[in-house]
This record gives sequence, C-alpha cells and structure tokens, in this order.
Amino acid sequence: MSVPARESGSAADPDDPEDRLRRFATIWSRAIFPVTATSMTRSEFERHLLPWARELSDALHGRPFDPAPAQRVGAALVAAHCTDPDALSRTLGVVESYLVLYCGRVDQDTAEDLRARCARLQHALAAGFAQALRERTLAEQEAIARSALAARSFAEQALHATEARFRAVFDGAAIGIGIADLDGNVLEVNETLTRMFGGLEHHVRGRNVTEWVHPEDAPHVWKLYGELIRGERDHFRVEKPFYRADGTILWTNLTVSLLRDAEGLPQYTLALMEDTTERRLLNLRLRYEATHDALTGLPNRTLFFERLDKALAAGDGARFGLCYLDLDGFKAINDSLGHSAGDRLLVEVADRLQGCATRPGEMVARLGGDEFVALTTGPDSEREAEELAHRILTALSTPIRLDGRELTVRGSVGIVEGPAGERGSAEVLRSADITMYRAKSAGGNRFERADPEADARAITRHGLTTALPAALDRGEFFIEYQPLVHLGDGSVHGAEALVRWCHPQHGVLGPDRFIPLAEHTGLIVPLGRWVLQEAVRQARFWQRRHSDGGPLRINVNLSPTQLHHPNLVADTVDVLERSGLEPAALCLEVTESALIGADEDLLKPLRQLAEMGVDIALDDFGTGYSNLANLRRLPVSILKLDRSFTQGMQQHPADPVDLKIVEGIVSLAHSLELAVTVEGVETGAQAEQLRELGCDTAQGWYYARPGAPDRIHALLLADAV
Ligand code: C2E
Ligand code: MG
Ligand code: MG
Repeated sequence: MSVPARESGSAADPDDPEDRLRRFATIWSRAIFPVTATSMTRSEFERHLLPWARELSDALHGRPFDPAPAQRVGAALVAAHCTDPDALSRTLGVVESYLVLYCGRVDQDTAEDLRARCARLQHALAAGFAQALRERTLAEQEAIARSALAARSFAEQALHATEARFRAVFDGAAIGIGIADLDGNVLEVNETLTRMFGGLEHHVRGRNVTEWVHPEDAPHVWKLYGELIRGERDHFRVEKPFYRADGTILWTNLTVSLLRDAEGLPQYTLALMEDTTERRLLNLRLRYEATHDALTGLPNRTLFFERLDKALAAGDGARFGLCYLDLDGFKAINDSLGHSAGDRLLVEVADRLQGCATRPGEMVARLGGDEFVALTTGPDSEREAEELAHRILTALSTPIRLDGRELTVRGSVGIVEGPAGERGSAEVLRSADITMYRAKSAGGNRFERADPEADARAITRHGLTTALPAALDRGEFFIEYQPLVHLGDGSVHGAEALVRWCHPQHGVLGPDRFIPLAEHTGLIVPLGRWVLQEAVRQARFWQRRHSDGGPLRINVNLSPTQLHHPNLVADTVDVLERSGLEPAALCLEVTESALIGADEDLLKPLRQLAEMGVDIALDDFGTGYSNLANLRRLPVSILKLDRSFTQGMQQHPADPVDLKIVEGIVSLAHSLELAVTVEGVETGAQAEQLRELGCDTAQGWYYARPGAPDRIHALLLADAV
C-alpha cells in the first residue's frame, strides 16, 4: 500500500495560523473572483484579498471586540469592483462557513463567542458594502445628471436649430427622452424610453402624463409639474415610480425641463429619465441583508436599535414597551441535539414570535443566540407590553416537533415600559436584560416587569461579583470572631470565625452580601480556604498563649460548593498540619439545608473529617425542615439551633410552644449524643431559659458581638481570672 505523496512544493502546515489565513483567502477568492470585474489574475486577486482576510481574522479576536474593520473590508470590496450582489452574498457565505474554522482560536474564546462575533462581522461587512455602493451610485448619478443637462441644452438648441441633429441625439441617447405638450399629451418618445416601459411605443406615446400618478410619488411631484408648465420654474428633478403596461414598476431618476419658444413662452416639456429599478432593488436587498438575521429572517440588532431609538425619540405623550426574551435551557438543547437542531428550533421560535407581534407599531427581532426582543409603541404600552409577554409565553408553550421528538421550550421575559424621551436605548436594554435575569432566577417560564430599585440592586450585585476575585488578591477580607460560651459556667469555650469584606467604596460588607455571590461564581473555594487557614492559625495562636485555659475551639463555616469540592479533605488536613492545630479543636459548620437529601457520596468527605476528630456542626438547625430521624445518618456531632428559636423566648412569658419544641430537640439531640449550641442569645433571661432547657453552649450579643481576635483574647483572660 502506498502512502499518497504530499503535494509537492506546498509545505502547508495545518496548524500554522499564517497558512490557515492563506487557505481562507484562497477559498474567498475562489468564491468571488468569477463575479468580479477586475483585470487582476486569480492569484493576484488572492494576494489582494489576504490583508482583508487578516483584518477580519484580527477583528474576530479583537479585545474589546470592534466590528469596524469588517465594515472597511465591505467598502474595500466595492472599491475593488466586486460590486455584483453575488460577490456580497458569496463573501458573507465564506465568512459564515470558514472564518471561525480557519481563523478561530478556541483556546481564547468559546465557540459560541466566536460565532456571535462572526455574525456581527458579517453584518458590519454587509453594511460597509451597502454604504460604499450607495456612495458610488450617488457619484454615478451625478455624472448622469450632468450629461442629462448637457443633452437638454443640446436638445433646446436643436429644437431651435436643426431638426435632424436633434433627432440624432434623441434617438441615440442612452437615457429615456420624451416630449409632451403643455396639456400633458406625450408627443415623442425615444427608443430607450419605450424600452424602459416594456417595449411597445403605444404604451407611452399618445398617453397623458397625468395618467402616471403613482401611489408612491413624492408628495411634491405634481406641484412641481404645475409650476413648470405655468412657466414658474425651468426644471425639476425627482425620483419617480411608473407602472409599466404589465403592472410591474419602473423606478426612474426623472428630470423634467420646460422648453420655451423664441419669445420665451412655455411650449413643451422635455422629460429625461434614467432607469434605476435594478439599483433600487439591489439597495433594498443590501439593506435587507444588513438589517435582518440570516438564520431566522427576523429583523436583527441593527434594525431593532434603529426602531427603538425612533420609539424613544418620539414626541410628547409617546410610550414604548419592550419585552426581552431569553429561552430557558437552550444551551442544553443545543449541546445535546446539536447545532443544526438548535438552529431549527430557533427558526420555529422566531416564527411563533413573529405571529405574536402583528399589530401596527409592534416588531420582533433577534438580538443573537437565543435572545429575542419584541417592541410595542402603542399609546397604552403598559397594558400592551404585558399582553405581548403573555402572548409570547403562550406561543412557546406548545411543544416544538424536531426530528420526531417533542421539545418543550420555555422562556424568561423582562418587560421595560415607559414614556419616550427619558432614557437612551442602551439603558432601556440593560434594564430589560436585568429584568429578564430576574425572571430567570425566579424559575423561568414567566415575565417580570422592570423595577428601578431591583435594577440598582442587580447593578451593585454585578459590581460586587466582578470585584470579588481581585478583592481576595488585595487582602480586602478580614475575619471577626464571636465567642462560644458554656451555658453551665459561662466560660468561653471557642469562637466562630465570621468573614467580612472591607470594600473600598461600600465600606464593610457582611457575609450575606457577598457569600452567595462567591458561592455562585465559585470564588467561595479559595475564599473559604483562606478563612479556614486564617482562623486555624488564629486558634493555634490563642492556644499557645493560654496553654492553661484548656483547648480552645474554632468554628468555621462551610458553604455547599466547598462541600462538593474534591479537595475538601486534603485541604483541611493540610491546613491543620501546617498550623499544628489538633483536629478536635476545629468545628466545621454546615447548614442544615446543604445536607437535606445528601447522598453517601456527599457525606463521605464529612465522614472522613469526623473520623479524624473534626467536629461537624449542623448550622441554622430548625430552618430546613429536615427529617429528624435522618440526623442519625449524618456525621454530625453538634446542632446549632437557629436564631428564630431564641427570638421566640424574648417575650414574657416565653412562647410555650417554642419552649416545648426546643426541649424536644434538645432531648432528641442528647439521645443521639449530639451537643446543642444556641445562636442569637441577646438577653440574660434567654440565656437562663436555654440553660434550663438543657442547651450546652451559646453564642450571641448577650455575651459578645463578633469582633477582632484580640477581643477573644481579652475574654479568655477574664475567664482565667
Ligand atoms: P451563621 O453561621 O449562622 O452565623 C451567625 C450569624 O448570626 C452571624 O452573622 C452573627 O453575626 C449573627 N449573630 C450572632 N449573634 C447574634 C445575636 O445575638 N443576634 C443577632 N441578631 N445576630 C447574631 P453574619 O456574620 O452576618 O453571618 C451570616 C452568615 O454568613 C453566617 O451565619 C454564615 O452562614 C455565613 N458566613 C459567615 N462567615 C462565613 C465564611 O467564612 N464562610 C462561609 N461559607 N459562610 C460564612
Ligand atoms: Mg455559622
Ligand atoms: Mg447559624
């Protein structure tokens, strides 16, 4: 068997970015060279494309992302005579299929990012192409207008001079020429004009110009015509549509001039017309491509922002309503069924959405990915936006059939509604986005209305989330310690470590403000490790200083993500060994809710730690409705009764039901050999009551608020005395 020889001379390396870029340029030139009017050879043309390919590739990875280079590439195509509409659609096709393939570096960006960027580059390219072509067309029109003017003055002279010479101009002209009398009767037309109208002379000659009123006429056309035949003006120029005999529409650039006799009295009108039908169609098509989503055919981001800007700029009393939709769980569908199924699903969703917004003033657009928007601009937009959201969710509720399966697609909608003229489009969209996320976190398949306070909270939350990682590096976190006290003799028996964030702008933030965010982003793992290290180090320090005061214990909170982390046991052992603290002096607090329904896999690390001697406490016990019988199964040695029980004891006399419950829990805990700690003890009366009920240790403001480590030190000294 022979190995096929490598193509001689081509030392192409499939991994070399330069080679891949050249491949891309080759494919591109192959696609558009045949539709380009150029004097270059194929390979010259390919070299010509290479720098543009590089611009596209660089733009694809640019940070921050900027699609402007693609717009320049679009314009450059026009400058290089690639003006055929096919050249554009082929270019867009090549970019769509090959740019990410040959120039994408997936190690830097996710495939999804690259696709989104690629789509925006295509839009920019199409926009640049359309703009350049429009400018070029205008320049050409100017040239034609100049020659038309020359023809007109020539025609004027000819009328006054030799009929024969006039005929020559008239018949040979590349633009349509017609002459009518002042009553509008068409007397003469040339070949070109006849051809424009479909080829039969009697369709034009002998007709009256007033028969050519067209519904799309510019409003002033007929006023200008009136002024012309009355001799009040010498010519006018307009863009005007005509019906051909077969009903199709002819678009023209029309110049009408007044011909006067030797005395200067109006005598005839002379019309010069240039057929712009095709150019107009091309422009419409380019505009369509630049403003519509290629996959679903819906208006795209560009067109949506145009409309939104217009709605927001509308005058007094105008209102707008915006529904921002994001499909729930679309990524999972895409990942499991493949992108082509995902695409078909989006097309179906787009069709359904389109059917939801058919009233005047309503529009639906696709912003990208699985994000859609619907806009309404009626006077009663408050009610209409909500109805629109209802219609959208209802339209999605029927399952979608794909490849013989029924898929249920749901969505989350954020509604922003309000008067025009107050906010810019970016602000409105951001609010809609935040509101949509609120709908999503509330479980999805619903809509929420924007609320400025919730927006502000979300923005702060977002700010805090993004600042978290740097805060850990900059050492902005610190720990306060709150003593744990023996209820029997009131001696300090340990302390709970409670983390705080000293934020440069917001001041000191409590854990409730940032632990959920750290949990959400995964930063809780390094943060939790830092708290553990720091707290264990501190405990070891206290022990050394108070070797006589018995072992002092340290409680550290663990969040659910830390519980699931594979290195939990190894990290904890490492921290203990480095500091020299014995495992029995450490207590890890896990909330009851994190352990509800936990299986053996999740419990295993905790069991290992417990076997080493580390205490595990069930924090906030009594808030999670866990099955008491379940307690036996958990590797837990301490119950921390939630603050809510202690609060029930504040009133006099204490709520008897609360007392009974606490008594029951304590006796159950003791029968399972669990110690009971109570949280949130704020008064001496509470402490006394809880002691009588048999609780072992307590924590609360009555003894001390959480504070700096040397406060614990001072309390221990006081105890020793
Ligand atoms: P927790 O573990 O139940 O901590 C007890 C909370 O009750 C602390 O709030 C403490 O300041 C407060 N507290 C103590 N005594 C009293 C009292 O007498 N009355 C009242 N009203 N409150 C009292 P903090 O510091 O805001 O902590 C809130 C929660 O944040 C903690 O609840 C814990 O779940 C979490 N947390 C704190 N530090 C960490 C940490 O390092 N890692 C993790 N994962 N979570 C932490
Ligand atoms: Mg705790
Ligand atoms: Mg607690």
